[in-house]
Amino acid sequence: MKIDSDFVMTINGESVTTEQTQPVYNPATRSVFAQVPDASQQQLDDTVQTAQVALKTWGATAANDRQAALETYADLLEEHADAFMSLLTREQGKPRAGAEWEVLGSVAWLRAVASQRLPDEVVEDTDERRVVTRFTPVGVVGAIVPWNFPILLAIWKIAPALMSGSTMILKPSPYTPLCNLKLVELAQQAFPPGVISALSGGDDLGVWMTTHPEINKIAFTGSTETGRHVMKSASATIKRVTLELGGNDPAIVLPDVDAKALAPQLFWAAFQNNAQFCNSTKRLYIHEDVYEEVRDALADFITHHVKVGDGAEADTDLGPIQNSMQYGKVQDYFADCHVNGYTFALGGEIDEKAAGWFVPVSLVDNPPDDSRIVCEEPFGPILPLMKWSDEADVIARANDTIYGLGASVWGKDLTAIERIGQQLEAGTVWLNEVHQYSPFQAFGGHKQSGLGCENSLHGLMEYTNWQTITMNKVM
Ligand code: NAD
Repeated sequence: MKIDSDFVMTINGESVTTEQTQPVYNPATRSVFAQVPDASQQQLDDTVQTAQVALKTWGATAANDRQAALETYADLLEEHADAFMSLLTREQGKPRAGAEWEVLGSVAWLRAVASQRLPDEVVEDTDERRVVTRFTPVGVVGAIVPWNFPILLAIWKIAPALMSGSTMILKPSPYTPLCNLKLVELAQQAFPPGVISALSGGDDLGVWMTTHPEINKIAFTGSTETGRHVMKSASATIKRVTLELGGNDPAIVLPDVDAKALAPQLFWAAFQNNAQFCNSTKRLYIHEDVYEEVRDALADFITHHVKVGDGAEADTDLGPIQNSMQYGKVQDYFADCHVNGYTFALGGEIDEKAAGWFVPVSLVDNPPDDSRIVCEEPFGPILPLMKWSDEADVIARANDTIYGLGASVWGKDLTAIERIGQQLEAGTVWLNEVHQYSPFQAFGGHKQSGLGCENSLHGLMEYTNWQTITMNKVM
């Protein structure tokens, strides 16, 4: 199978094209290099119908057989890993190391989730009664994914959905449809027709999916703003929803750190994937005793060790912004900092004539707590650094947000970092590390960062309906 050309939708195991297509850009050059189909509402209806039909047999397939299919899929993805990495770099912009982490991580995820089971829970088993709660497939799942980690975030949905016995229709982001279409085309070699299909199109397709009466659940990853629309649309038919939404993760740095040793870790915490990362550190609170030292060590590390460029070049650390819409948003945050007179400790000027949507890594020196750059999610390489002195106060400032996705605390005093970490309002709190994920570790947001969770048995359970069966044995 060719991975780098012939991009088609997959409906019930068949490749499908459309007369109208949508362009796909390479963000490092701003040029169009592929076209993808643009699905109609009728095609969605047809796909949903085939997914409902497939559900009847796939849902009744033994768990060990579903496991075997997922493992075959993992093997296929591993076999084509190199081609997927190149395509991912080309459409998403990320450098090779990031693409490798994403593709090989997806292979590992598939294998791990394939081993997970939700056994029946025997609540009561006496001579008189038997009561059992079991987990049945939730049904047809509409999966809607964003453009920052298109492969991994799709696999985080595909693996548990298919393992649970549900079937799925995947809708990629219009900005990064290629890897997702190919993932689903490849999946046809592992799963029966209709178990997993893919449709490409614009945001409208997402709206049609969230309102479709025969789609039973929406698994969504994207912005909090769109998440609100999804939840509202899904309410009409009481669809199950899992929402993985935006974040504004704080990192708190204690006074006892070694600034120079910490700088690379803080850099990657904030700028991995060019800061187009729900869990990027987006607010850095540094104790006043070490503020200048940490700020300068971070700026020094970036200046001497970080190359921004085309992800296809071997020595690139950070690629471009993925699309023009996001580039415009990031430009706006830079402009807002300038208008308000905030100081940049590094960067601050975007070269708008650059070949791609490139933005320099930038640090904003102690802006006010109510500034946009502190309160909002820029989703680009611009990070505000703030001072703190009082522990209760910095915890309150870290929690003063509608978001609650992740957070981190850094320091040698392990008692202190744990004490602070336990008071942070976030789904994942990392202590002296960051971005450690696992298929066995629940992931999700507090507050407006989401609803429900992915990964672990809790995540698998989100693709099931629980059903309690009670039997009176004495008739
Ligand atoms: P987005 O919300 O703009 O789009 C996400 C997806 O929703 C796309 O596929 C889009 O086509 C679709 N969509 C748009 N409007 C829709 C509608 N009305 N109904 C249904 N679907 C619709 O997000 P994005 O810009 O692609 O991604 C960036 C955002 O995603 C950031 O806020 C980031 O923090 C968040 N994110 C969260 C996680 C997480 O796990 N919590 C992970 C990655 C990204």
